[in-house]
Amino acid sequence: MPKKKNTNIVWLKRDLRLTDHLPLHHAIQEQENFLILYIYEPSLMRDVHYDERHWRFIEQSLADIQEELQVYDKKLTVAHGEVAGVFKLLLDKYCIKNIFSHEETGLKITYSRDNQLNLLFKKYNITWNEYPSNAVIRGLTNRKNWEKHWNNVMRDPIERINLLKAKIINHDFCTKNLPTFPIKKSYQKGGFKSAHIELKSFFIDRGSEYSKNISKPEKSRYSCSRLSPYISYGNISIREIYKVLLNSWDKPGWRRSIKAFSSRLHWHCHFIQKFESEITIENEPVNSGYKNFPYLIIDKSHSNFQLWAQGKTGYPLVDASMRALQSTGYLNFRMRAMLVSFACHYYLIHWKLVAEYLATLFLDFEPGIHYPQIQMQAGVTGINTIRIYNPMKQALEHDVDALFIKKWVEELRGYDPGYILNLPSKNYDLFSQPESHYPQPLYNFQERIKKTKDLLWQWKKSNKVKKNNLKILSKHVKV
Ligand SMILES: Cc1cc2nc3c(=O)[nH]c(=O)nc-3n(C[C@H](O)[C@H](O)[C@H](O)COP(=O)(O)OP(=O)(O)OC[C@H]3O[C@@H](n4cnc5c(N)ncnc54)[C@H](O)[C@@H]3O)c2cc1C
Repeated sequence: MPKKKNTNIVWLKRDLRLTDHLPLHHAIQEQENFLILYIYEPSLMRDVHYDERHWRFIEQSLADIQEELQVYDKKLTVAHGEVAGVFKLLLDKYCIKNIFSHEETGLKITYSRDNQLNLLFKKYNITWNEYPSNAVIRGLTNRKNWEKHWNNVMRDPIERINLLKAKIINHDFCTKNLPTFPIKKSYQKGGFKSAHIELKSFFIDRGSEYSKNISKPEKSRYSCSRLSPYISYGNISIREIYKVLLNSWDKPGWRRSIKAFSSRLHWHCHFIQKFESEITIENEPVNSGYKNFPYLIIDKSHSNFQLWAQGKTGYPLVDASMRALQSTGYLNFRMRAMLVSFACHYYLIHWKLVAEYLATLFLDFEPGIHYPQIQMQAGVTGINTIRIYNPMKQALEHDVDALFIKKWVEELRGYDPGYILNLPSKNYDLFSQPESHYPQPLYNFQERIKKTKDLLWQWKKSNKVKKNNLKILSKHVKV
């Protein structure tokens, strides 16, 4: 039997780019042959958090990488199968010495997969070299110097990736087995090329009114950076974005927007750091005192869950937000928070159901931001202010002409903004008009919310919640 060739592997996961990529940089420095590998994992593709929209975005991201590598006459290796099985197939052909990858702050499913892989790699004497993603630190127990660390990481120079020197080889897995996804233009297109186009247009002009429009459901779609899916799938690093931000710091008239944007880039790593240090947040409230909070709905088949999930609550801004999200995969921060609040506070749907369903809709689904945010908005952390969003007030303040509502709730298109913004009206007069098929709300908002508010405060003040607050603060917040 011929001797197997020594080979290293750069394993891509949520870092689908060829720039600011330490695993790739180090693989090139080794001067050994290596594969750049992406694996479509069937168990992850079936996971409740994922939807076809995510895999399409990944497919597009891989196409960009493939195209770039072709310029250097090199190829990306793409496989479809469970990770351990794919590595075993590669071990039949190669003597694998090193795996290079970014650390992944993922769901329990990927955490367990990594534990299993660690055993496999040990058995075959393979060294797994993992590098931090953005400014997230593995194994951190407190936040004392974390801000300083973040600033240092963002100011570090970016290692140049020299693909000319890269000894990339290709393993041809049967391409017939690779999944493909039909193009849908209503979603942002994946890949580092689109990421850099968004980045450029944001700093050239879109971002000038960033802070003014950030809470507006319609205008935010233009004025916000729209970089979130590119960051979540690693088409671009936070450091690459931050460097452009620093170059734009003195742009006349932009200071407020640039400062606000800079905070969001901090928050990105801050939230993922929380999840990295407390992976149980995926299934348990960060404050265990809320474990038995009396939610009314713990099953997705419940008719009230369906009303919320289908955008048929009878509250125009809630329904417009849900329908926009279903069609485009995007919603600004405030409307996301309102959707969570409405589900958890008006219908008393368990936050876990809300988290899973919204994950499938957010094109930018990032477990480390998503789970801590959902729990914060649901009001089950004990340390954050309880915020209950009133959709009528939100519409009056942030969709003053009802443009966003009319765009997404076709049943209301023929009505005046003044009328729509007063829905649901007390006497339900809209519904006496036969041509309107817009649903009636199930409950009176104020009555329903009053009950939830009392309940949330009662729990927040309880000893079982308060006793965990200090522990949470010292672990996740700079004290
Ligand atoms: C319930 C809920 C769930 C969320 N789930 C996700 C998620 O799965 N993935 C995700 O990327 N964002 C999530 N967010 C945060 C935020 O809503 C989105 O990052 C933002 O709306 C994306 O739009 P943008 O790229 O135009 O953001 P911009 O306002 O332009 O911000 C730039 C980047 O900063 C980061 N960022 C912005 N706001 C926040 C925030 N509040 N917390 C942490 N990071 C932030 C994102 O990476 C974003 O791309 C969630 C918010 C809520 C309330």
